[in-house]
Amino acid sequence: MLNVKNLTFSYDKTPVLKNISFKAKPSENIAIIGESGSGKSTLLKILYGEYDLIEGHVFWKDEEILGPKYNLVVGHDFMKYVAQEFDLMPFITVEENIGKFLSNFYPEEKQRRTAELLEVVELTKFAKIKVKTLSGGQKQRVALARALAKQPEIILLDEPFSHIDNFKKQSLRRSVFKYLKDENITCIVATHDKDDVLGFADRMIVLNQKQIAINNLPETLYKNPTTPLIASFFGEFNIINNEIVYANQLKIVKRSKLEAVVKHSYFKGPYYLVEAVLDGNVLFFENQFKLEKNAIVYIDIFK
Ligand code: ADP
Ligand code: MG
Repeated sequence: MLNVKNLTFSYDKTPVLKNISFKAKPSENIAIIGESGSGKSTLLKILYGEYDLIEGHVFWKDEEILGPKYNLVVGHDFMKYVAQEFDLMPFITVEENIGKFLSNFYPEEKQRRTAELLEVVELTKFAKIKVKTLSGGQKQRVALARALAKQPEIILLDEPFSHIDNFKKQSLRRSVFKYLKDENITCIVATHDKDDVLGFADRMIVLNQKQIAINNLPETLYKNPTTPLIASFFGEFNIINNEIVYANQLKIVKRSKLEAVVKHSYFKGPYYLVEAVLDGNVLFFENQFKLEKNAIVYIDIFK
């Protein structure tokens, strides 16, 4: 169990994180979300023991994770961290990078393990390629595999799929998160991408103004976004009569009190996102068809 107790941290005088507390059980997947600069990366680095805290404690099971003041060597076997900027060894191959920290004492086991991890990150074909020739996304996948090599009990992932193109992203996410669940590895993932959260995260922690604004189930937060910040994470939304309403919760009806003027229809694949004006405010809703500019439509809320 990861136990984060009341931590406060600052790089200089002003705190970046204040009174942060949460827990994570074995195999749990916890997403840390928040706007750029909200402290997601800082929090992961603290959990890893890269910094000394002003206040608070971090425990994994019975062991306290201490900062550099108390623990000269950063890092533990039970905990791995994949940073936003991954440092790999460029002049050796993908499989050598992954196997770097595996024992040479059992070469067959090392090879089996490396092959398994190459599958997880979908890089089997690139095993013999030198890392320096890979794209950013491919390097990110090597960094992931290397972090998993010695089977940690907990892994900290900082925007793990940010460099990976859309063609690969979906299947890679499923593969990596499934592997972590199957192997009972606790995962703390910092992200600003809802697709890293929905379908994978067991809980979602929202960082805002240096603190944990909310810690709840993704489904609960999606269905009842209590603030515009949470709603904006999930998609386009409106505030109608002080209520948060997603664009997909508005539909055109024959008549209603909500009369809007269409301004633009954006093609989104399965639907059009329509920008309209309602009582002088911009309004977004989804519609199956493109609508003409300046058309008058009546819409209603379907929650
Ligand atoms: P996020 O990952 O959510 O984008 P960060 O944890 O990177 O946020 O940054 C949180 C805050 O801490 C930001 O205001 C950022 O400018 C500041 N910060 C990050 N790293 C450092 C550093 N090494 N020294 C000083 N300030 C930093
Ligand atoms: Mg960051």
